[in-house]
Amino acid sequence: MRDFIPIARPIIGREEIEAVGDVLASGMLTQGESVKKFEEAFSSYLRVKNSVAVSNGTTALDLTLKAKRLRQDDEVISPAFSFIATANCILYQGLKPVFVDVDSRTFNIDPEDLKEKITPNTKAVIGVHLYGQPFEVKAVQEICEDHHLILVEDCAQAHGAEYNGKKVGSFGIGCFSFYPTKNMTTGEGGMITTDDDDLAARLRLLRNHGDLGKYNHVELGYNYRMMNLQGALGLIQLKRLDEFNKKRISNAELLNKKIEITGIAKPYKIDDVKHVYNQYAVKVKEDFPVAREKLMDFLQSEGIGTAIHYPKPIYRQPIYQEMSDNWKICSVAEKVCSQIMSLPVHPSLTEDDIEYIAQTINEFEAQL
Ligand SMILES: *Cc1c(COP(=O)(O)O)cnc(C)c1O
Repeated sequence: MRDFIPIARPIIGREEIEAVGDVLASGMLTQGESVKKFEEAFSSYLRVKNSVAVSNGTTALDLTLKAKRLRQDDEVISPAFSFIATANCILYQGLKPVFVDVDSRTFNIDPEDLKEKITPNTKAVIGVHLYGQPFEVKAVQEICEDHHLILVEDCAQAHGAEYNGKKVGSFGIGCFSFYPTKNMTTGEGGMITTDDDDLAARLRLLRNHGDLGKYNHVELGYNYRMMNLQGALGLIQLKRLDEFNKKRISNAELLNKKIEITGIAKPYKIDDVKHVYNQYAVKVKEDFPVAREKLMDFLQSEGIGTAIHYPKPIYRQPIYQEMSDNWKICSVAEKVCSQIMSLPVHPSLTEDDIEYIAQTINEFEAQL
């Protein structure tokens, strides 16, 4: 019997265990030297001036909007198709979320619809590099410049991804997550990246209760600190990130080659990007004779985990429906939600695992 192939699995090796053990033995558990080293290594990896470590990806987004001093009723744009944290951070700050539709091939923010959704109240745009593929950075950047908007990059699924040879998180304000399903992990954990020194200083202040030092609290801040335990883990994972991503890419390319089923649209990659495949998401085509859920059940019974990222546009989630029944429909996002399905692509898979996944899917169609 084969082991079940989960949809995601972090790789934690001896080096990680030793690094965390060293921190435990030192007794310096909370934010300190290991966090600082992790921040510096992250900055040099991304070629940005500042990295500010925080407790998770959600607090990275939240702290970013807080630091930019937006005012109540300012509008912040989020893609309708993303993990809910992308939009929730807008609500945390008492701001107004406005949802933009996505491109039907890449599932990333659609620059044309973005233009349509901008109003005099728009202050910021959160672009998501979904599944590890950079969004159309150039087009979005130009729109932000034209309208004087803050550009936040949600890089939670795109550590090491590149657009025109430049790493994501270095175009706007980058927000990363190190949750175990991401391309690298610290358990929980997050990072904010920016070339703006003043912003970085403000982020550092706000993540630690607005404390200038010696209990001199000059602003209403939070406890969004990262622990040394996580920093030590992150340093090792960052060293291995390129190797992890290389494996994700070769797994994705092998799936592209081996999946022959006609009822499925494989991931579409735009030119001039490095896609790091946090997810290998396929679209079950409309003319496919059975429901996507049937295929997922079949794969599950054959020992292959799948997932739907994500089953509904954010504005369809109950919490957003309770707030308003007036959301503008994003028709592409609606459709993508009904068709999308993620297959395992994570770096701990063997070539044999990938062959098995492809073969099982191909068999499913042959049976129909
Ligand atoms: C994971 C994720 C987040 C949130 O990160 P957490 O560390 O889980 O809080 C935000 N945005 C996207 C797109 C994500 O995938």
